Amino acid sequence: MNSQDLEQWDKEYVWHPFTQMKTYRESKPLIIERGEGSYLIDVDGKRYLDGYASLWVNVHGHNEPELNGALIEQVNKVAHSTLLGSANVPSILLAKKLAEITPGSLSKVFYSDTGSAAVEIALKVAYQYWQNIDPVKHRNKNKFVSLDEAYHGDTVGAVSVGGMDLFHRIFKPLLFQRISAPSPYAYHMTEYGDPEAVKNHCLKELETLLQEQSEEIAGLIIEPLVQGAAGIITHPHGFLKEVGQLCKKYNILLICDEVAVGFGRTGTMFACEQEDVVPDIMCMGKGITGGYMPLAATIMNEQIFQSFLGEREEHKTFYHGHTYTGNQLACALALKNIELMESRNLIKDIQKKSKYLSQRLQALYELPIVGDIRQRGFMIGVEIVKDRQTKETFTLQENVVSEIIHTARENGLIIRELGPVITMMPILSMSEKELDFMVETVYRAIQEVSIHKGLIPAAN
Ligand code: PLP
Repeated sequence: MNSQDLEQWDKEYVWHPFTQMKTYRESKPLIIERGEGSYLIDVDGKRYLDGYASLWVNVHGHNEPELNGALIEQVNKVAHSTLLGSANVPSILLAKKLAEITPGSLSKVFYSDTGSAAVEIALKVAYQYWQNIDPVKHRNKNKFVSLDEAYHGDTVGAVSVGGMDLFHRIFKPLLFQRISAPSPYAYHMTEYGDPEAVKNHCLKELETLLQEQSEEIAGLIIEPLVQGAAGIITHPHGFLKEVGQLCKKYNILLICDEVAVGFGRTGTMFACEQEDVVPDIMCMGKGITGGYMPLAATIMNEQIFQSFLGEREEHKTFYHGHTYTGNQLACALALKNIELMESRNLIKDIQKKSKYLSQRLQALYELPIVGDIRQRGFMIGVEIVKDRQTKETFTLQENVVSEIIHTARENGLIIRELGPVITMMPILSMSEKELDFMVETVYRAIQEVSIHKGLIPAAN
């Protein structure tokens, strides 16, 4: 088996997610064989800095000895047994730990294995909560509010609360009804004024629809502080806090989807901490195992949990579960991941390095096609525009952003595009030197592509 065989078999047998396979099959695939710290190494031995944290999950680096050790230790005991009708040691310890590190009185953990499933669980729990407490009074509480451009995953419930036309439009006939609220995408909403004015406009609109429809709304789901998949839309400061207050005012459950922003990504363990918001339900995934194993969790407060208690014939049971719910290997890794985050003071370190990164990123504004740089902690989006005044973006056919991503990869950096936005999601343990390489490589890639496309003269 050599790299040519693998390339051929990949193209013949593997259907890649979110990928136009026609284009993919015309290109040379990147086939990863190994990982070492912040680097991924392909089958030809070429090294790449993982500036995407392997889809926003990696915390301490690849092939991390302590995480490897935790996995081996657990696999030598047992790999999996079901949580249906029995418990297991790592899932108990992890649930206790999650209750300790999440804000407020969140304390009841329901496990699953992907962020999408964590969202499905949150939606079903929120809906059933109202039915459990008063099915007559709340018979119409079956709608969810989410933001324009929201992304909460790819299963049908998660897509129903999604607001990204590109991904979600085709599935519309399959979905349940969502109430959409405006997203404070300040860069593209200057007609309302500065970010503070954009925030106030969006909150006003949100309050109007909550006022009119609160009887029908079971919950509001939001990505706290940053809408990741939509292109790192960073919300104006205070937005989440006021959304939380509106939910309280209109008796609507607040669901914080921390799948992307949780576990240190924005500079605190959970993003909602930054605005002192305690949701009723929180979804977690991605970084929970340090990027090693699929695991997700939905954590809720005592009041919600209590509503599910009753005699069996009352049918308050939560009829939901996945085969690998509470898998021992994944839970053992999550415990070790959190232990390492604490012992290595990772959150403080990210806060310090985010400031450094923020200074370094400003250099990208020297390049005329850089319209906006958005950053919260280790989540970075660079919006590429044709014209800074009009903020018009390049078409897919013009192929500017994907060429930048491709050029960066040629130069040893893995990052990805989200529409017109170059996104960088460095591994949380990356050193300043590695962050420098990431920013410099992005700078060079934008410059090279700008010259190649005739957008700036070669001498510039
Ligand atoms: N929620 C948010 C905010 C996400 O960003 C994602 C994935 O990117 C998901 C949910 C879905 O997670 P998964 O891909 O693990 O199903």
